[in-house]
Amino acid sequence: MDNPVTSSVGDGPAFVEVALALPVFQTFTYAVGATPVRPLVPGARVVVPFRGRREIGVCLEARDFAPAAVTVKSILDVPDEQPALSPDMVELCRWVADYYAAPIGVVLRCALPALLTGAARPSPAPKTRRMAVLRAGGGVPSLLERDRAFARAVRQRAAYELLESLGGRVAAHVLLEQLRCSPSVLKGLAERGFIDLTDEDVDRDPFASRPRSAPPAHEPTATQRNAIETLRGASPGEVILLHGVTGSGKTLVYLEFLREVVDVRGRGAIVLVPEIALTPQTVDRFRAVFGDKVAVLHSALAEGERYDAWRALRSGAKRIAVGARSAIFAPVADLGAIIVDEEHEGSYKNGESPRYHAREVAVVRARLAGSVAVLGSATPSLETWANATRRKYRYASLPSRVGGGRLPSIEVVDMRRKESAAAPERASHGGVLSERLEEELGATLRRGEQAIVLLNRRGYAAFVQCSACGDVVACPNCAISLTYHQTPERLVCHYCRHQEAPGATCRRCGAATLRRRGMGTQQVERLLAERFPRARIARMDFDTTSGKWAHATILDRVGRGDVDLLLGTQMIAKGLDFPNVTLVGVIDADVGINLPDFRASERCFQLLSQVAGRAGRGPKGGRVIIQTRVPSHHAVRCAVAHDYAGFVKSELEGRSHPAYPPCLRLANVVVSGHAEDATADCANDAADWVRRLVEARQLAGVSVVGPAPCPVERVKNRWRWHVLLKSERPVPLTGLAQYFVRRFRVPAGHGLRVMFDRDPVALL
Ligand SMILES: [Zn+2]
Ligand SMILES: [Zn+2]
Repeated sequence: MDNPVTSSVGDGPAFVEVALALPVFQTFTYAVGATPVRPLVPGARVVVPFRGRREIGVCLEARDFAPAAVTVKSILDVPDEQPALSPDMVELCRWVADYYAAPIGVVLRCALPALLTGAARPSPAPKTRRMAVLRAGGGVPSLLERDRAFARAVRQRAAYELLESLGGRVAAHVLLEQLRCSPSVLKGLAERGFIDLTDEDVDRDPFASRPRSAPPAHEPTATQRNAIETLRGASPGEVILLHGVTGSGKTLVYLEFLREVVDVRGRGAIVLVPEIALTPQTVDRFRAVFGDKVAVLHSALAEGERYDAWRALRSGAKRIAVGARSAIFAPVADLGAIIVDEEHEGSYKNGESPRYHAREVAVVRARLAGSVAVLGSATPSLETWANATRRKYRYASLPSRVGGGRLPSIEVVDMRRKESAAAPERASHGGVLSERLEEELGATLRRGEQAIVLLNRRGYAAFVQCSACGDVVACPNCAISLTYHQTPERLVCHYCRHQEAPGATCRRCGAATLRRRGMGTQQVERLLAERFPRARIARMDFDTTSGKWAHATILDRVGRGDVDLLLGTQMIAKGLDFPNVTLVGVIDADVGINLPDFRASERCFQLLSQVAGRAGRGPKGGRVIIQTRVPSHHAVRCAVAHDYAGFVKSELEGRSHPAYPPCLRLANVVVSGHAEDATADCANDAADWVRRLVEARQLAGVSVVGPAPCPVERVKNRWRWHVLLKSERPVPLTGLAQYFVRRFRVPAGHGLRVMFDRDPVALL
């Protein structure tokens, strides 16, 4: 065994504290041993012996002595020339681990590519794809020659000319889709020597092959210039809420600010977007301005590509990381700015351990790295708004649309009245499409303009119910009703993906009176196709976007004008900017408004405001029609009036009694297990345990609520109970969380698990 006392070498530390890239809360002390080949500083990767294996860890800090009564082993290797993590990234990881009560090793896995933590999976075999390439010297330049060559082959000519217009090299399926022709057309062209068909490795980075758009030509307006100046003048660590109405040109403000940060000050930046696939236009604009300085981090990257991007950012070869929530851990060198676009989006919250919120991590990282954090939104989260009104964050606003554009006028159609007064032939629409919305859709299409139709519920019908006994067909694994899908005809659980064929009779009473209730996007699509047979309709929801880049493909078609009606779920409400969209229709504003969750109204208000903001972004202006059965609900009323301040005012009243964020801090402890009794017992024990701790430590301002069954009380065959921890201040909650996750003993058996979720985005 090494002797810890003699293992000190030169000026280096004798011992180091190491976090292993494993799901354990503990850190471990190792001796430095013989002269390390490379400096052992915080952030350096090390290889250490652990339970008879070689494990990879990260050095957290140096120590002069080891804890007594522990046999200290020596570090085996320091594999990297440069430490993998900068000092501020080490600090950030420790903060995330503490605040969210997550094992430090799990946090490190967010900050390091899988190839560096030893967690890399073998990379999948590259897939190939068939490419059509114009043959060199095989061209048919003159029209006359073309007329002759393709006299009896009109389709071949179309394919040839399309390929030519696309630059002479394109995936074969693109040609076939656009021309709606069979592969024999391309085969014919190849046989005649005009083109070659070759198999190429699939380019796994779709952003590398997306066309570069031109940098924006507009000059900032006076209000945009003010906002840009505010950002430029911010001091290190400062946070700014950029509150800009939809269409106010927030992206241009980001771009101009980053020009200063990156091009003038020579620093780096992180740009977070809610979901890369849903915001290709935003990503394109950053690439257009900053070109090769941008690394787009997305889930389709292979591990090797992710590692390459990570290294390029760490070394400063690339200066800007653009990505979804996990990009907040990008190793950008000399970080000058962090931009969180659409900061109110729930997708910034990680759904598994560590359950971090990327917006909150951004604020902390900006402080640690001495950079400026910009949180942008048209509908800021109540938390961010509260921080701005308390002057914790600075406030910059873009109160009007650019180019003199006005916010669209919003009309409400009260569907209660429509239903009762409906003539029999209207009733066949089942209250889906009001006369008013149908009329406006028709007029929009006749003018050659585009429309967006939102229904935030996929499938065909919301649920299937027996009209004799009232029974609703539910998922066998979850306490949730099954959704009826028509193509293919299945009943589907949207929680666990359980599927079954729809039965003919009620399982409870045997009557043959099963009825479909409520509507989904599939039904609205069929109805729109019936009412507007000539319209080109695209549907965008979870079911039509199973391919990783299906979203971008649909949106590109809308952008080119190949789609007249874009129908979809909340996916279509985000950052889209199509000037020819002059009408937005909301089929049912009430979806989700009554969910038993304290954020239900906020989400509804944000969704309505965001989707309304897609209308009238061009010179033709636009209008919005919202169908609802609760026109007086404050989420609907304030969205219609473009009244953010009014919404916040009434929403905050609702969140003070009983208190919910932002009036206090919240953590949700969810206990789940296979047996209902055992789950409830464990939740009771957990609540008692925390109550005793709160009492023993005399934690003022902390309260424990529950336990109670979760609103969705069973998911994937697991029963779910929860306990809410409320605290007036964040610090006591951190201490409580640390102690709880380490010390509370979950009983063995019944598959019991305890999940700790700090600052939850939903309590379902
Ligand atoms: Zn029945
Ligand atoms: Zn299910």
